[in-house]
Amino acid sequence: MELRELGGTGLRVSTVGFGASPLGNVFGDVPRDTARAAVRRALDLGINFFDTSPYYGGTISESVLGDCLRHAAVPRDRVIVATKCGRYKDEGFDFSANRVTRSIDESLARLGLDYVDILHAHDIEFTHLEQIVNETIPALQKIKENGKARFIGITGLPLSIYPYVLDRVAPGSVDVILSYCHYGINDTSLVDLLPYLKSKGVGVISASPLSMGLLTDNGPPEWHPAPEELKSACKAAADHCRKKGKSITKLAMQYSLMNNEISTVLVGMNSLEQVEENVAAALELSTSGIDDELLREVEAILEPVKNLTWPSGIQQA
Ligand code: NAD
Repeated sequence: MELRELGGTGLRVSTVGFGASPLGNVFGDVPRDTARAAVRRALDLGINFFDTSPYYGGTISESVLGDCLRHAAVPRDRVIVATKCGRYKDEGFDFSANRVTRSIDESLARLGLDYVDILHAHDIEFTHLEQIVNETIPALQKIKENGKARFIGITGLPLSIYPYVLDRVAPGSVDVILSYCHYGINDTSLVDLLPYLKSKGVGVISASPLSMGLLTDNGPPEWHPAPEELKSACKAAADHCRKKGKSITKLAMQYSLMNNEISTVLVGMNSLEQVEENVAAALELSTSGIDDELLREVEAILEPVKNLTWPSGIQQA
């Protein structure tokens, strides 16, 4: 598995990253043995980056990921583990210094770790961004100084949140960003922000290459926030691939992996089979390239909904 530098962190992350939200049962129940087998296989195939959050499955994802990593008996310095703070299933959003400071201790206990490699403020568009700049990031800096997190990140859907925060914090206080649903076949809007992020020395993690299930044969979960127009166009694209005996998921994975400015593509996985398929897609891309004809056809189907997204967060001042 190819490794890429993550901004200025010195971390070398696998291009395919393991999104552990499915381990919180958010896309359907995952038996523990299945979860353990998926993580074990991921490690064996060279995936070294795992992403979770206390929000996923109301803390279940963190506990299950911790269990799977322990079960795999992988040396701590061989894996890069990211979790988040500020978003909780029962409490909603709380980016206060107090809450995020407690949050990391709770996460470390659930994960069974002494430190995480990356701690993100999770979906920051749901609070006033001044709070993130003035209160949350300084609190995360202290957590970093205490050795509980090696690097600090911010995540969220609207791309405007990134320059807002990065232009107002001291250089080096945000190491990475995690953007989702903005670098895949149906939405490439992250590309415009990449030169800016590079100029700031910030590492780029792109999540949800399958648009949270839109670009799969099974389709999205019930809670998917996309407008109907986007859901039906993605379904048409998946149907088209299936009729040709091809996989929309493979094409979508490969498309997201093609941009070297993106260090890692986080895909949510809940089984050994999905891990194998997604890693095989990455390997095939590096040896044979993408199926250009299929890509052009799928891009044409998705053209009417290109970069169509959905609202997320509060109205910022
Ligand atoms: P995704 O686009 O990765 O899609 C995940 C869905 O696709 C799941 O249902 C999964 O089972 C399915 N899938 C994966 N591989 C498949 C395959 N080969 N064939 C068929 N189906 C397959 O969306 P995601 O899981 O939401 O995003 C990936 C990860 O990124 C998350 O798990 C999470 O760790 C992270 N993420 C973070 C944020 C944030 O911080 N705000 C937002 C979204 C995602």
